[in-house]
Amino acid sequence: MQNDLDSNNNVIVFDAVSKVYQPGSEIALHDVSFAVREGEFVCLIGPSGCGKTTALKIIAGIEKESSGVVVRPEKISMVFQSGALLPWLTALQNVALGLRINHVPEHIVQKESLKHLEMVKLHDLVNKYPRELSGGQRQRVGIARALAMNPSVLLLDEPFSALDPKTTEELHQDLITIWKETKKTIVMVSHLIEEAVSLGDRVVLMNNFSIKKIFSIALSRPRRENEVEFSREVSQIRRSFFS
Ligand code: ADP
Ligand code: MG
Repeated sequence: MQNDLDSNNNVIVFDAVSKVYQPGSEIALHDVSFAVREGEFVCLIGPSGCGKTTALKIIAGIEKESSGVVVRPEKISMVFQSGALLPWLTALQNVALGLRINHVPEHIVQKESLKHLEMVKLHDLVNKYPRELSGGQRQRVGIARALAMNPSVLLLDEPFSALDPKTTEELHQDLITIWKETKKTIVMVSHLIEEAVSLGDRVVLMNNFSIKKIFSIALSRPRRENEVEFSREVSQIRRSFFS
């Protein structure tokens, strides 16, 4: 079965999950079933308003499903499109904040914060404030902050959509390196087919609050957009996207 709902390796399972935000309001997710395996990189794509963010919030436990069954891991961190950094805190203080809230001892807070800022290549900018950082650097801080919490699953909601193509490309490469090094499970929402094919082991195509189709991307890494096989995957998904 394509969804592999029965596998023991699954860290996230949606079984017939639906969501209505308020009683009587329109549906936001309808009968969605899929599973994510440990260590997998899954991309959710689909047109605006189809339920991608809702699915991510339900995985994170920020929103509760209205019906169906959800299995979610205990430790989840989320990276938002805007970076969501506190402007009066430095990069280091922003990363440290989550750990401090969780009462992690201060010497570990410092060590873990610096380690993760290094992982996203910001070791020279740890004392800068968000306004002194570029959009790409701010997203790097957001990723470092999420990773410092040591989640088993990292969720990203269109994290690169406000960035220029070159910065996006660099972040893609670094995210893949981090994913391989840390062996985290990643679920990322994107509205770009190319981005999803570039990053994902699987691409979940959504439409009208449901899953339309799930694609396995068998391409080896690093993936290059100018290769024939890459274009073939993109065209195949694009046909489904618009059909
Ligand atoms: P996407 O991320 O794919 O753009 P969303 O998950 O944000 O889609 O939205 C799916 C549907 O749920 C949309 O119709 C949207 O208007 C609705 N929706 C999203 N968030 C809320 C909310 N907090 N309250 C009510 N409706 C919402
Ligand atoms: Mg969204």
